[in-house]
Formats: sequence, C-alpha cells, structure tokens
Amino acid sequence: MPELFPGRLQPKLPHVGTTIFAVMSRLAAEHGAINLSQGFPDFPIADGLIERVRHYMKKGFNQYAPMSGMQTLREVISEKVESLYGACFHPEREINITAGATQGLFTAIQSVVQKGDEVIVFQPAYDSYVPAVLLNGAVPVFIDLEPPDFRIDWKKVRAAVTEKTRMIVLNTPHNPTGSVLSETDIDQLREVVRGTDIICLSDEVYEHIIFDGRPHQSILRHPDLTERSFAVFSFGKTFHATGWKTGYVLAPENLMAEFRSVHQFTVYCCNTPIQLALADFLRDKDNYTGIPDFYQSKRDYFLDLIQTSRFKGRPAEGSYFQILDYSAVTDEKDTDFAVRMTREYGVASIPVSVFYDRPVDNHVLRFCFAKQKETLDRAAEILCAI
Ligand code: PMP
Ligand code: GLN
Repeated sequence: MPELFPGRLQPKLPHVGTTIFAVMSRLAAEHGAINLSQGFPDFPIADGLIERVRHYMKKGFNQYAPMSGMQTLREVISEKVESLYGACFHPEREINITAGATQGLFTAIQSVVQKGDEVIVFQPAYDSYVPAVLLNGAVPVFIDLEPPDFRIDWKKVRAAVTEKTRMIVLNTPHNPTGSVLSETDIDQLREVVRGTDIICLSDEVYEHIIFDGRPHQSILRHPDLTERSFAVFSFGKTFHATGWKTGYVLAPENLMAEFRSVHQFTVYCCNTPIQLALADFLRDKDNYTGIPDFYQSKRDYFLDLIQTSRFKGRPAEGSYFQILDYSAVTDEKDTDFAVRMTREYGVASIPVSVFYDRPVDNHVLRFCFAKQKETLDRAAEILCAI
C-alpha cells in the first residue's frame, strides 16, 4: 500500500499485528475447521435470559443507560460480591458496567497509568493488556510464568519492582494456561505491594470457571488489596454470551472516579435492555452456582476423549481452555502447527507462543472446550488420528 502522509502517520502499535483470535477464527472459517481457537461457547444461552432482554426492549428500555450502568444491575453485583467474597462495594460510587471486560481492562489501565510508568505483566499474557500499556506510553515489565504448571515465581516479582512500578496485572483463572492463583500467591502479592503505591488490576473473568473444588482467589476477598485494585469481570463468560460484550469493574471510590473520567469518553454507557436482563438473571444464584461443575465435566469429557492421542496436558485448573503439548507429534513451531492443523486436519487452536514478548515456544496449543458434546467428539476424533 502506498504510504499515506509520508513520515506523518506513525503506527502507534508497530509490533502488534492482528490479534490471534481474529486470525485463527478467520482461518477456521475459511477451511471449515472445528473452531477450538477463540474462546466462546457454541451452545445456546438460557432462554430465560433472552426472554428478559425481549421484555425490556418491548417495555421501551431502548435509550441510553446512566454513564456508570443501570442502578439495578450495580445493586445486584454489589450483593453478589458481598455474598461470594465478603466485599463491600457501593453501587453508586464503586461499580461500573463496561462494554465487556476488554473495555474495563483498557479503561482501568488508561485511567491510572502514565507515560514512563512500569506495569508488571505475567506471560503468557492475555493479549489485550500490553497494547493498553504501550498506548499510554508506559513500559511493560514481563515475568515468565513457570511451565509446566505456569506458577508465579514471586522472587522474580520482588526483583522486578522499582520506583516506577505503577501496576501489576493479575489474571486468575488464567488465560491461556488454565492455572489459578492460590492463597499463598495472594500472601506473596500482599508482601510485594505493601508500602508501595502499586495498583493491582485483577482480571477475574473466569471467576466461576474453576475446577476440582478450588476456591477462586478473588482480590475482593482481601480488603488491604481491594483498596488498591481494579477487579474486572465479564457476563460474556458467566452466562455464555460473549457476543453481548457486557462486563463490569469494581474499584474503591478514588480509583473509580479516575476510571469514570475516561469511561465517559470511551463508550459513555453500555446496552440498556441487556443490563436490565442481566440484573434479573444475576439475582437468582442458581443461574451461576452450577457453572464450575458444568465446565469441569466438559474439561473431563474432552481430556478423556483424547487420552489415547499424542496431545498431552495437565488438566486445566480453571478457565475454559486446555493447553496440550504436541511434541510427540512434531517439532514444528506452534504457530506453524496451529495453522497446518487448521488447514490439513480441520481443528483450529491457539499457539501459546503469541502471548509472549519474544518467541518462547513450549510446543503447546490452547484448545477451548466450551463446546457441545458433538463438537468435542468430532475434534477429539481428529486429534486422536494425528
Ligand atoms: N480477559 C480474559 C482473560 C479473557 O479471556 C477475555 C476474553 N474472553 C477478556 C478479558 C475479555 O472479555 P470480554 O469478552 O468480556 O471483553
Ligand atoms: N477471550 C477470548 C479468548 O481468549 C477471545 C476474546 C477475543 O476474541 N478478543 O479466546
């Protein structure tokens, strides 16, 4: 393409290409492959939830919501986090509805991270954190999680903290590895931030997708951490409706004020009838208490089906992703193998190396098991034959 305004149009993210989720989903569609790459369910959402959206649309709730979100939804969220995590968040001042967790994360970073600040990011890292850091002129400081179980080495964290550290980004359950933080991790975090002005950004979109009886170590359980944190959630994950792009952010009043000063000019507000429907649905705890078991049986079903294959992995502790080592199949790079598998075998996955700042290829691919039984059956049959 000829250069437009030569020398005057500098890319703001010169090293960031198109997100892997768009790349792999498109490739899967082109080749008619089973799409276990981008994380989204292929089964229907609850009829009751759809009915509520229709109800509110018919009743005329089709105009702008308040900037911070519908009051009723913020109230139910406040009740929910109090009953689950013992956390007290004021619906008026400390809760904000967002256009998915993506906007919540982006706006949280944008509202407090300044040029030259350092932001600690564990990698492999979900791909939206680093671009948000870079766009604000800040510097990501990368710490590798330790394979095979992808734990945080807190010695490395202590060594990475400087005067300039403004934020630590946490994500539990973790995308893409499926690892979860333990209580010991939280204690270590507490020690690292004590006496500093570091803000925690806690991405908890998979709070309900956690297995084998593990408790979700929400930052909201710990008042001393909560007072310096943004916590980010997504209804897309909890109610299987990723396309609704509705999430929320919780933060103490002073951080939330900064958040809102940016949020108002980013989206101003989010979809009104969907917020009202979600408020009704969230009020009934039965609509989310069964989620861990629901996804755990999908994880186990998938792992069972591929037991005889040459793809190997430790069961995910949380999230709806299973990472699998394919080194018994080939020594190709994960990016090459993911593309070849999509084209030649008809199963799309995500190469984990793309979630690093440098080529770290552990020969693992990420597979999304948030799928109907038939989809997992067909995918597993192919994987077993590779
Ligand atoms: N954080 C993580 C860890 C995710 O996996 C995702 C994507 N599903 C998001 C944030 C973004 O969530 P949303 O679709 O609600 O924007
Ligand atoms: N979170 C989803 C995943 O990890 C994808 C979200 C997106 O497409 N941006 O696959």
